[in-house]
Amino acid sequence: MPEKVVIIGSGPAGWSAAIYAARANLDPLVFEGTVKPEMIPLGQLAFTTEVENYPGFPFGNVRAFIESAVDKDRHWNLPPAPDHKRDGVYHYAVQGVELMELMKQQALNFDTRVIGDDIVDIDVSSRPYKVIPASGDPVETHTIIVATGARANYLGLPSEEEYKNKGVSACAVCDGALPIYRSKPLAVVGGGDSAVEEATYLTKFASKVYMIHRRDELRASKIMADRALNNKKIEMVWDSEVTDVIGDDVITGVKIQNNKTNEDSELAVNGLFIAIGHTPITGFLNGQLDTDDKGYLILEDLYRSTTKIEGCFAAGDVVDSTYRQAITAAGMGCKASIDAERWLADQGIE
Ligand code: NAP
Repeated sequence: MPEKVVIIGSGPAGWSAAIYAARANLDPLVFEGTVKPEMIPLGQLAFTTEVENYPGFPFGNVRAFIESAVDKDRHWNLPPAPDHKRDGVYHYAVQGVELMELMKQQALNFDTRVIGDDIVDIDVSSRPYKVIPASGDPVETHTIIVATGARANYLGLPSEEEYKNKGVSACAVCDGALPIYRSKPLAVVGGGDSAVEEATYLTKFASKVYMIHRRDELRASKIMADRALNNKKIEMVWDSEVTDVIGDDVITGVKIQNNKTNEDSELAVNGLFIAIGHTPITGFLNGQLDTDDKGYLILEDLYRSTTKIEGCFAAGDVVDSTYRQAITAAGMGCKASIDAERWLADQGIE
């Protein structure tokens, strides 16, 4: 018997789709990815520390709740609680991995099945469709929900990797308000709309924001570019590339090189926000669903989750280059599940 719903991806969109599908008695099967190749188990949030903007998780003794909610055999995957104690108990906002483990738990509680493998191909040339795991046999399914997300691009410096979550971030909206960045000089790398948006957002908290761009002209739209150029808290560092991240426990600065003069210099900053674009995880689809020029999946109907192949739905960052938030991805996962449920009902598949 083919599966009714196969969900590819295990970020907020994937688990939200699974919770809805499981509660609709569709017995969903989730491929959550492995740590190695394309897919990112638990999505981008797996790389984030505290998540202060996911509704429903204000600061509090969240650890006690998480440990009571998440199966004990997965507690090893929970990161140490941040050392913010109040009256002797942990008091912090939920961390990325914790939030994802909670979502996964919620899906498991309704009997979602989960396979820890990557999908390396699909076949939508005839129905039922097939998803092809890296190991194991192809799985037949009536519907597919693609929720594989997008990977933030990084510069690729070893020191950048070392300081991730210690001052290096790819999401100002997620991390910019954290205490370590308050009233400090920060830097943003990139010259597109995202870089401008991140830099402008960071001016709310930072003492100053440097925008380090490899050319002498912004790629961002004129209105956005003007916003950065006219912001007194933003200083442009043109024709420059970050060559190293320096610091001790957390970052204290970056080395930069002017690519016109080859001159090296250092900039004292306490945060480095990389905003050089994202790469949606769609390569495994081998062109069977339409993508835009950046690889994002194209929806047939922007208000829904439908793709050009009926019975194939998409949700989360894999279709969304604009918002890229956990809450928006979770909402889209819900829509994809409801779309799949309705499509199955229309086909008379129970
Ligand atoms: P983007 O437009 O592709 O810009 C990426 C920027 O990063 C470019 O300035 C690029 O430099 C730079 N870059 C790329 N690789 C680099 C590297 N290895 N080292 C240093 N710099 C590097 O990406 P985006 O800004 O994320 O925007 C993506 C899409 O979303 C765009 O269509 C954008 O308009 C849209 N968006 C819109 C809004 C809005 O309207 N509010 C907000 C965010 C995003 P070069 O310029 O030299 O290529």
